[in-house]
Amino acid sequence: MPEVLKMMNRLFNESGDLHYPITEGEFEARYYQATCNLQAFSASKSPKTDFIENLEHVEDIRVLAMLKFFEENGRNATVMFAGMFPLHACLNHACDNNVEVMDGMVNGTPAVHVRVKHPIKEGEELFTTYIDTSMPRKLRRAWLYKSFSFWCVCKRCKFEGDDNSECTECKKPAEGDKKWPGCSRCKRAWYCSSQCQKKAWVNGHKDICSMKHTVSHQGVSK
Ligand SMILES: [Zn+2]
Ligand SMILES: [Zn+2]
Ligand SMILES: [Zn+2]
Repeated sequence: MPEVLKMMNRLFNESGDLHYPITEGEFEARYYQATCNLQAFSASKSPKTDFIENLEHVEDIRVLAMLKFFEENGRNATVMFAGMFPLHACLNHACDNNVEVMDGMVNGTPAVHVRVKHPIKEGEELFTTYIDTSMPRKLRRAWLYKSFSFWCVCKRCKFEGDDNSECTECKKPAEGDKKWPGCSRCKRAWYCSSQCQKKAWVNGHKDICSMKHTVSHQGVSK
């Protein structure tokens, strides 16, 4: 742990505009949060792949045998890393996330890229996702609650429902065997009337109805 504290202090003191000394007590209190902020990533290039590439230029029977060995033992397997990145670690979650975290290289070093999914306005908050956003709302909320102890009230959770037994907009329950009809496009919101549907559409459903989901999520624990 003392090493991690040192590492965090280095991170927060040497990374551009962030200058924040962390005390031991504070570190204890924030430790869980810190581990939540670790991000797994892989690199297409690594010392191992460089080594193998160099071998390919050597014409020697032993080298060929070695290449064969690598071929059979996942020569293209990417190397996994975990790291904490101040920008990425500050990102909150939204089920309609406007950024995605991708593996990449920065100045020749394996790193992550935080890439926007669509044009964003100046001052707009960047949101990543901590989960697979293709799940229905019930599952997303359950995952987030269990793993990160919060109840998601993002725009998407607000304009999607759980099922057809309740109007997503006015919360009116469907009585008896009757079920409310759903949005034909996303099939994730149900309405008691066309007025409710129109109201929800204008207020925000139109922004989340046909969004592209972040299916493969790469976080270690985020
Ligand atoms: Zn949400
Ligand atoms: Zn309604
Ligand atoms: Zn819809």
